[in-house]
This record gives sequence, C-alpha cells and structure tokens, in this order.
Amino acid sequence: MSAIEVVEPATERVMAEVPRAGAEEVDAAVARAKAAFPAWRAVAPAERARLLRDLADAIEARHEDLARLEARNAGKPIGDARGEMGMVVETFRYYAGAPERLLGQTIPVAGGVDMTFREPLGVVGLIVPWNFPLTIASWKVAPALAAGNCVVLKPAELTPLSALELEVLALDAGLPEGVLNVVAGPGSVCGQRLVEHPDVAKIAFTGSTEVGRGIAAGAARTIKRVTLELGGKSANVVFADADLEAAAAAAPPAVFGNAGQDCCARSRILVQRSCLEDFLAALQPAVEGIAVGDPLEEGTQMGPLISAGQREAVASYVPEDAPVAIRGDAPDGPGYWFPPTVLAPVANDDRAAAEEIFGPVACVIPFDSEEDAVRLANDSVYGLSGSIWTGDGARALRVARAIDTGAISINSNTSVRVSTPFGGFKQSGVGRELGPDALEHYTDVKNVYYATEGG
Ligand code: NAD
Repeated sequence: MSAIEVVEPATERVMAEVPRAGAEEVDAAVARAKAAFPAWRAVAPAERARLLRDLADAIEARHEDLARLEARNAGKPIGDARGEMGMVVETFRYYAGAPERLLGQTIPVAGGVDMTFREPLGVVGLIVPWNFPLTIASWKVAPALAAGNCVVLKPAELTPLSALELEVLALDAGLPEGVLNVVAGPGSVCGQRLVEHPDVAKIAFTGSTEVGRGIAAGAARTIKRVTLELGGKSANVVFADADLEAAAAAAPPAVFGNAGQDCCARSRILVQRSCLEDFLAALQPAVEGIAVGDPLEEGTQMGPLISAGQREAVASYVPEDAPVAIRGDAPDGPGYWFPPTVLAPVANDDRAAAEEIFGPVACVIPFDSEEDAVRLANDSVYGLSGSIWTGDGARALRVARAIDTGAISINSNTSVRVSTPFGGFKQSGVGRELGPDALEHYTDVKNVYYATEGG
C-alpha cells in the first residue's frame, strides 16, 4: 500500500504519513462490518447506549490532543478546534440516548394488531470532507451506530488523522471489532467503491454538490439509501431597522470562520440600500481586526486554506478588477494564506455571488424592499442556511418562512446545534443530520401485522 502524505496547511510541511487504502481495503472493511452487524444489532439497547457514552468519555479524555491534531491538519484555529471536539463529545452523548428511544407505532386496523419497528439498515458508508473532519464524521457515526448499523467511514484524503484516531478510541471504549471501520484513501477509489458495493445499504455523504450528484447516480444502481449534505451560498439579510452594530460584528465570523471553508458560510451579505454605507463602515474594523495566523496560537481567529489548489480556486474569484471594499491581513511565507476579503457592491448574478467560493470572500449585495430581499436570497441553486437581521419580529418570521433554506437564524448567525435538524433545500442536499431527524435516515420502517381474529 502506498502512503498518504498528510500536509499541515499552515507550514506546507508533511506532518504524518498514513497507509493509502484502495478498493481492496474497502472490500475488507465492508466484510468486517457485515460480519459484525448481526451481533451489534442484537446488543441490548441499554448496553449500546453505554458503549456510546463510553466512546464519548474516551474522546473527551483526549479532547486537547484531538483538538491540536485537527487544528494542525485542517489549519483551523485551536479555539475553534476545541469547540468542535466538544461538539463531537456532545454528539455521541446525545445519540447515546437514542437506542432506548427508537420507538415504533401501533396503528388501529381491523382483525389484528399492527405495529411498526425502526430497523437498522446494515452496513452504512459514510463519506466526509476536510473542513470539519471529526465533527461531520460524528454527526454520521453516532446516529448510525445508535440505530444498530455498522459503519465504514471514509475521511477526506487531506484530513484522515482524526478519523483514524476515532477508530482506535472506539475499540478502546469497548465497541466490538468491525462495528466502526475507517478507510483512508482517495474518493475516486475508496468513496466510489463504497457507493458501488452491493453490501453497503446506505451512503451518507458530505461534500461538494458535484461529487454528491455522482454519488446519487452511482447509488441508484443498487437502490442504496442516500443522504447528501452539499454546498451552500447562504444569504445574511440585513434590514435597515436591524441593530447594525450587532449585525456587522456577527457577519465576519459567519463567513470567515474556518477561513470561509464552511458550507454554512453566509457569504452573500444582503444589505438594505438605505443602510449600506453605515453597515460597511461598521464592517470594516471588524474585518480588518481578524487575527489571521498560526492555528496553534491562542487568539488566532482565522487560519490558512486547506491547500494550494484551494487557494488558487479562491483567488480566481478576486481578479485584479474585483470590487474589493475591505481586505484584512494574511501572513507571508509558507502556508496557504488568503486575506479576509469583502467585495461590494456585487450583483447577485456575478460569479462570486452565484458560486460557492469556499474561502474567505464575502459579497455584499444591496437590496431595496423586503420582497427584493426574499427574491435575491432565493435566487440561488443552494439553500442550506441563512440569517435575517431586523428589529421587526413579524417581518423576521415572514422572511424566514419565505426563504427556501434548510436552517435560518433571526438576529443570529448560528446554524448548527446537536439537538436540531441540519440539512439543505434545493441543491444543498437531501436528508437531515443531527437532532431526532437523523435517526430516520439510518433506519427503515418495518410494519408487522398480527392477526388476532383468524387471519
Ligand atoms: P468533495 O466533494 O471533494 O469530497 C468530499 C468527500 O467525498 C471526500 O472524502 C472525498 O474523498 C470524497 N469523494 C470525492 N470524489 C468521490 C467519488 N467520486 N465518489 C465517492 N466519494 C468521493 O468535497 P470537499 O472538497 O472535501 O469539501 C468541500 C465541500 O463540502 C463544499 O462544497 C462544502 O459546501 C461541502 N460541505 C457541505 C456540508 C454540509 O453539511 N452541507 C458540510 C461541510 C462541507
């Protein structure tokens, strides 16, 4: 097996080498998962819950070194990485409550008793991206295991390290061999093999819309269940009656967090024209003050991009003649740095406003009326997250209902909570993660009819 050289994006140095899995390793992992499934699904619910809680404890015990590993490998600020590892622990604890609460129904019918059961699917293939490596893995692994499935997890080739640690921690925590398997290898080989594999019942994928489209098509051959968490180009709608200082202070982390490599990035800032100047004036110091630098330094707010290729792709959205209104700092020297950049004013159909940049570039798009704001917000192939800033409660709810998106916040730019559903409308995806909804995507409903009056 050849090796994957894992690069630290802040230094461009190789930080680790791990064996590169191929199709054979995927087949072996699926076979292990398939063999482990009958015993795992039969584990008593309270015992499965205890094992998931033990795994959460094991992750918590390694919280700081996992945060440092993720910060180095994904180039994210250590403070953010600590928060993410906290969410991983919380996610396993949340779904540890599920095995004993996977309830069916009894349905009134003639001649007998009818009941439903939520059955595990079997072996599920989980394919995750590099931007929130362990966090997004936990959103899939925890509900999948809680529902009684066995898992083959494929991390992104750029960031395999935390997933490989998770595999070891699961065994240490007492999960039976074969229940959680990790294959670190290229998407076009390992991911594709998982998608094609006849013994894999479902693919849960997070990544780009383009790859997601191929996965949906590939999975159709074996009628696999598929959930997709894809790209976004979310709108942050700021009305003139909002608390402008609060909206301007909250806007930069919502698009420059994780160096903009965030599917939820509110990268289209729609601002009512009558307050455009005031908003930009308040935004400027907030963007220029972002501390960009070494991910391991306390106080760093933005790290590098994940790779040279990603930096090149991001730079293509900021050509020489781009309307750069605000530009923050970025270090020189090694590392895939790109400064926080605000383009203003931008038309909603400009390439930078229409496509997911996945880097620290925000587009400010002026609008006139509420109707205009809703039309512009919806004029996108995506619909993942979004925000509305206004002092008018009725307007906030009206606009929240009118925008076609999976998650929207009012006077806040947050999207993700362990206990609430997250996922996309339109080309941002299919299905929901987190909250109780995720469990439905890792189970099938079985209906059982028991004749009590002679069949
Ligand atoms: P990507 O689509 O290139 O890769 C994602 C994963 O799919 C990786 O593990 C990759 O190896 C694998 N893959 C690649 N080609 C494959 C194939 N042919 N068959 C099967 N698997 C394959 O995405 P990325 O560049 O790692 O991540 C960035 C994208 O992820 C962005 O578009 C972003 O919006 C999206 N994303 C979405 C969410 C969400 O919840 N909606 C969250 C994070 C990231």
